[in-house]
Amino acid sequence: MVQWVYNFGAGAADGRAEMKNLLGGKGANLAEMASIGLPVPPGFTLTTEVCTRFYEDKCTYPAELKGQVAKALALVEERSGQKFGDATNPLLVSVRSGARASMPGMMDTVLNLGLNDQTVAALAKRSGDRRFAYDSYRRFVQMYSDVVLGIELSHFEKLLERAKQRRGVKQDHELVVEDLEKLVMDYKARVHVEIGMDFPEDPHEQLWGAIGAVFNSWMNQRAKTYRQLHDIPEAWGTAVNVQAMVFGNMGSDCATGVAFTRNPSNGTNDFYGEFLVNAQGEDVVAGIRTPQELTIQARKSHGSDLPSLEEVMPNIFRELCTVRQQLETHYKDMQDIEFTIQQNKLYMLQTRTGKRTAHAALQIAVDMANEGLISKSQALMRLKPELIDQLLHPTLDPKAKKQVIAKGLPASPGAAAGKVVFSADEAVRRAKDGEKVLLVRIETSPDDIHGLHAAEGVLTTRGGMTSHAAVVARGMGRPCVAGAGAVQVDYAAARLSVGSVAVQEGQILTIDGVTGEVILGEVPTVPPQMSGAFGTIMAWADEYRTLQVRANAETPNDARQAKEFGAQGIGLVRTEHMFFDGGRIIAMRRMILAADEADRKAALEELLTMQREDITELFRIMDGRPVTVRLLDPPLHEFIPHTEAEMAQVAKAAGVPLNRVRRRATELQEANPMLGHRGCRLAITYPEICEMQARAIFEAAAAVGRAGGAVPVAEVMVPLVATLQELSILKEVVEKTAAAVQKEQGMNFTYRVGTMIELPRACLQAGKLAEQAEFFSFGTNDLTQTTYGMSRDDAGAFLPEYKAKGIVEQDPFVSLDQEGVGELIKVAVERGRTARNGMKMGICGEHGGDPASIEFCNKVGLDYVSCSPFRVPVARLAAAQAALKLRGEKALQPSTKAAKPLQPTFGPW
Ligand code: ADP
Ligand code: MG
Ligand code: MG
Repeated sequence: MVQWVYNFGAGAADGRAEMKNLLGGKGANLAEMASIGLPVPPGFTLTTEVCTRFYEDKCTYPAELKGQVAKALALVEERSGQKFGDATNPLLVSVRSGARASMPGMMDTVLNLGLNDQTVAALAKRSGDRRFAYDSYRRFVQMYSDVVLGIELSHFEKLLERAKQRRGVKQDHELVVEDLEKLVMDYKARVHVEIGMDFPEDPHEQLWGAIGAVFNSWMNQRAKTYRQLHDIPEAWGTAVNVQAMVFGNMGSDCATGVAFTRNPSNGTNDFYGEFLVNAQGEDVVAGIRTPQELTIQARKSHGSDLPSLEEVMPNIFRELCTVRQQLETHYKDMQDIEFTIQQNKLYMLQTRTGKRTAHAALQIAVDMANEGLISKSQALMRLKPELIDQLLHPTLDPKAKKQVIAKGLPASPGAAAGKVVFSADEAVRRAKDGEKVLLVRIETSPDDIHGLHAAEGVLTTRGGMTSHAAVVARGMGRPCVAGAGAVQVDYAAARLSVGSVAVQEGQILTIDGVTGEVILGEVPTVPPQMSGAFGTIMAWADEYRTLQVRANAETPNDARQAKEFGAQGIGLVRTEHMFFDGGRIIAMRRMILAADEADRKAALEELLTMQREDITELFRIMDGRPVTVRLLDPPLHEFIPHTEAEMAQVAKAAGVPLNRVRRRATELQEANPMLGHRGCRLAITYPEICEMQARAIFEAAAAVGRAGGAVPVAEVMVPLVATLQELSILKEVVEKTAAAVQKEQGMNFTYRVGTMIELPRACLQAGKLAEQAEFFSFGTNDLTQTTYGMSRDDAGAFLPEYKAKGIVEQDPFVSLDQEGVGELIKVAVERGRTARNGMKMGICGEHGGDPASIEFCNKVGLDYVSCSPFRVPVARLAAAQAALKLRGEKALQPSTKAAKPLQPTFGPW
């Protein structure tokens, strides 16, 4: 028989943390916490398979489910010493959704389920607190009606407002028990009006109603959007957790809170969280009251005048610290926890791996390795290479003048500027039009996800560091300032104001997620400063990786940046980029428009000077590291203008008749330039271009050497080679030039002639090419185009649909197509190295900076990857992970060794 329901509680559990696929993240971790002896209220989990079956079978449950739930409920009754629906000692439960991955689109938790007119009386009697009982009842009817029955929350808010008016008070908690009793009646009457049925009194009916609502919410629009944004398959399904209630709202010795075992913003090893006395559920994150800090230290550093948990409940605080320690040793990672204190007793309600900023992720990984909690290689394996990207983003220029209009909490780092918008829909609309927007909300909810995604950053006026906006922004890597209380938002007028300063929708604001500042207008930014942890991680990555990392660079700035990021050489200098620049294009055009060889030689002479200077500078910067210079690659017509006006201009600048410009432009026109007269074909037909370039390279090497610098190993790369003859002809030109330059300069230097592999024919003929080629560099941009027979510039017309239809999983220009293009690379590596033992090989396409492609390159035995300078750190980490994976290193699982129970018994109040 299939087990559809798993129990947990009282120091035992059917499930474990590894069973997230079946039990969902929340259920699996509740089971794990229970089994290591943490104080978890007992409960049970309906598996994700129930959800999957539910949708396969036209929204019906497996036949055995009812019986299994009844049995599980009986066990919870036994463990808690209470009875569901009982008139004297009723068990109340929460019903909570929980997918494999945390999913904000899912149904909200229903608390206090099991209350009705009878059980509420029992709750009042046993707790000795009638007000508490009716407050719980009121919350339950409201929550259940909203979440399960789908009745507009505003109906209940209006009734609540009216009750407060009648009593002449402002806050919910100032209502007296009679008000609450009446409210419950009014709520129920409203429910009847809205749905034509009574509010369900039978706890079992309530329970199944809530369970059904969770499964139904798997297919609601919010959840669907979230899944699309995060690539979560529909087939995964959600689990449902039913758990005995504990109450944080029974008085001043009760509380509820959330915490991170380390600081999720900067990663420091500080216990970090917020709580509210006499509160329930999500009161803390909803921003209803200002939450209190956990530690004295945090209270002081945030300048809060509310006492910390450490001060209010020192015993519980100490216990929570022990739990923190135990969770970290067990899970070996930073945890995000939810807890409730009921009459001076601590209960754990949730734990999961805590979301953190890129900066914190690095700090925590480094610290945990240094603390001996994980190994260095584990620290490396846990960091997504993309995180490194976020660290390389700019921050506000400290010297810039800025008009700070308000300050909130620094909830997610980075700086963002954009036009202010006040709704998620508006954010999406404007972002689609290419505008940069800043989403401003009083607070955000899961309904705003698409807006958070579209915005550059988020500003909220309410809520703390653990509010919805803060958590989601950190997860998405968006800067966020939360709880900027001085900012008044007027949605209706689409305006915000701080004192006398008013900002309309569409005006620009800047936020600084590091300081919490809200600034008028756009503030200039500066390149990021890498933290100490960044350096440590990079150094560790270098210890493990076997792949070398080079950069693609043409300009001195790019080369310097690349070196700073740790590039071990330049894998690709696209010489044509040097010719597009300002005055140089004129010399280039004169060369193309030359009437005869003498004319062309004169133009080439001019180009030689420029090219030599550029390459000398690159060699000097790279200080002895290898530099691969590619011969001219693009079709010549790219240098020639096409409009009549431009042509006239060129004729004048180059000093040639306009007619000749027109004629050359027509002559150079090609039906399919990508497959036309370009690459080595240019050098074959105009060998003087190849000669000039080779000369520039070698004279540059000589110049660097003469100036006392480290002479680099110059690598001359011939592009778009298909046959051995092409390469042989050009290699001879290069070698002759090298010999001539060496003689002229009276100096010897080493160089290599190799080829860029970017045609399928070259891959298949790699064995032959290797007779002449001294290195291969896979130009995977063109190799992908020629293998797929698809032009990168035109793929936009159909690739999105291909992706949607699942024809291709990934854009092959972003992540290497391993089974097609990759197979050709494998063949070329094998055949090339068979012909030339130990032949040096690398990749210089865009894929050289993509982690999955890097892993592939490592597997097939390439020597290096070359990518854009800003991807170099990402590539270093990805290369280390690739090496570790090859050694069989896996991502971390929580330790399976059960720890000693901290508190073996769970006692009902
Ligand atoms: P989310 O997935 O949005 O975090 P949860 O299922 O964790 O939702 O529920 C939200 C909050 O409800 C919890 O943080 C906790 O405060 C409260 N809660 C859930 N179950 C219980 C329970 N059994 N007893 C007391 N409070 C609960
Ligand atoms: Mg929620
Ligand atoms: Mg939760």
